[in-house]
Amino acid sequence: MITLVLHGGAGNITPAIMNAEQERQYSRGLQAALDAGYSVLAKEGTALQAVEAAIVVLEDNPIFNAGRGSVFTKKGVHEMDAALMNGSNLMAGAVAGVRNVKNPIRLAREVMLHSGHVMLSGNGANEFALKQGLELAHDEYFFNQDRYDQWVEIRDSDFYQLDHKEDNLKGTIPNTDFKFGTVGAVACDAQGHIAAGTSTGGMTNKRFGRIGDSPVIGAGTYANDRTCAISCTGHGEFFLRRVVAYDVSCLMEYGGMSLQQACDKVIGDKLKVMGGEGGLIAVNAQGAHVFCFNSAGMYRGVRNSEGVNEVAYYGL
Ligand code: ASP
Repeated sequence: MITLVLHGGAGNITPAIMNAEQERQYSRGLQAALDAGYSVLAKEGTALQAVEAAIVVLEDNPIFNAGRGSVFTKKGVHEMDAALMNGSNLMAGAVAGVRNVKNPIRLAREVMLHSGHVMLSGNGANEFALKQGLELAHDEYFFNQDRYDQWVEIRDSDFYQLDHKEDNLKGTIPNTDFKFGTVGAVACDAQGHIAAGTSTGGMTNKRFGRIGDSPVIGAGTYANDRTCAISCTGHGEFFLRRVVAYDVSCLMEYGGMSLQQACDKVIGDKLKVMGGEGGLIAVNAQGAHVFCFNSAGMYRGVRNSEGVNEVAYYGL
């Protein structure tokens, strides 16, 4: 079975923060990305190509916190993280803290295929983007009024926040309406190979070069044909400490758990008892998929060759 699964962030996503127009926007955005990724799979493309194609569409859509819609850092700029991993050969590429790269997920692909490394960061990653001829964009391309307002509210404080959470991470902030998120995709192709990718602007008002789980292989992103492909979203510090994506894979490989059992164990139990909020999407080499989150909601979608084609946002 070929399958494309994606997320657009997990957090405090409830009917109370979404109006009908926003629901339409998210539905359209998620569906466009599902279609882009799925059409790659339907034409016998690889899982890796499908994941990249779906994420590019999400990065280009300003409603998501990745690429064009990335949140503002403490300094009022955009620093983006992304990673890709291929389950058939365990090849991986990641970038952290890159600026003005239109599609960080494409840069992660270039790192994987042409750098001889797995992870590049900051100025060096930007230099590599130039060398590989990737498309760059001016700061104005990344400007978004909602994100800007969100940042202005906390820029003079030490607070930082997930963009779709009502509380910040060091106390209470004014009543805001956060509704955007990190993006990710996982896929299973016609050859039974799987892949995962994640892309994010991180957290509003982040500083000191903070990097979350998304670009860290094993924490926010992981793929291995023998077990699963995973993309996470949520409070990155907890996902890093829990090595979430690899833990799901290990529970399957060494613990004999099913995909669903392993996801439930990590997100619903191990992460939750630490106070870590968020979720993940997963697929295995048979094309079975799992959505799993311990937050109120997660923007998500799935399309497969058994006729499933759906998007959702709220709790199960
Ligand atoms: N996990 C991301 C980070 O901590 C944020 C998110 O998923 O929205 O950078």
